[in-house]
Amino acid sequence: RIVFLNGSFLPPEEAKVPIMDRGFLFSDGVYEGVGVIDGRLVDNEAHLERLERSLREIRIDNPYSRSEWTRLEQELVRRNGMTEGFLYLQVTRGVAERDFFFPQGVAPTVTMFTQAKAIADTPAARDGIAVVTVPDRRWERRDIKSISLLAQVLAKQEAREKGAQEAWMVEDGYVTEGGSSSAFIVTKAGSIVVRPLSNAILPGITRQSLLRLSREDGIVLEERRFTVEEAYDAAEAFLTSASNFVVPIVSIDGRRIGDGKPGPITKRLRELYLQMAREPAVA
Ligand code: PMP
Repeated sequence: RIVFLNGSFLPPEEAKVPIMDRGFLFSDGVYEGVGVIDGRLVDNEAHLERLERSLREIRIDNPYSRSEWTRLEQELVRRNGMTEGFLYLQVTRGVAERDFFFPQGVAPTVTMFTQAKAIADTPAARDGIAVVTVPDRRWERRDIKSISLLAQVLAKQEAREKGAQEAWMVEDGYVTEGGSSSAFIVTKAGSIVVRPLSNAILPGITRQSLLRLSREDGIVLEERRFTVEEAYDAAEAFLTSASNFVVPIVSIDGRRIGDGKPGPITKRLRELYLQMAREPAVA
């Protein structure tokens, strides 16, 4: 296995970051996660665009251009011989004596690694998963893909201990998003409901592509907030993320959704997404 650290491709045991790294001390950094299928990065341009935005919002200079990032990502995937899985990349403000103020003249720390895993054909995708709701305890700038993930670590662990695979976070009675995914429901009338973009949620790249595919397929879209009660009563529910694509949700807080099996609209969207990931339109 080979990982990337500050310009070098190394075995993981040689890729060491000093304890004074601001990512380690302050979670002062941002990240991206990109799905890989058939050895190709899925929606990589959109991920790099979101990375640019996250870096700008926390005032770290982007260490690479989009084409440099792409070349490095592709080289890492190639060196690991990964055909299906996940590529993680992270940029922190760098290494400096511990002090809250931005250090001057410090280069950001750039790390990347891959995780081989099945995405296209998994038990979760076939049978659906259970989610439980938890309070959304995060900060106000959830639109920034910050490496500070303590609220999500606790939320997802709580979900696991309750026998579920994902946590849906709730604020003022409305679902914001999953611990590491975007949240969707399908109404009994067959329209898709998804929360509009704002500082309250991460602008999911898979969400964005899924909305485009739904529109092209003529599915009615409602971009609005939905409550937990509305989700309990939905015909279908699903989540999206770069590492899992589209995953059906068959129970929420122990209540069966629909007939407790993945619904037809969710299945169709999963198929459309998979097809797009495998055969990206040539720009
Ligand atoms: N929301 C949160 C909080 C996430 O962590 C993720 C996954 N990174 C998503 C949504 C899904 O975003 P994407 O489709 O870009 O993976």
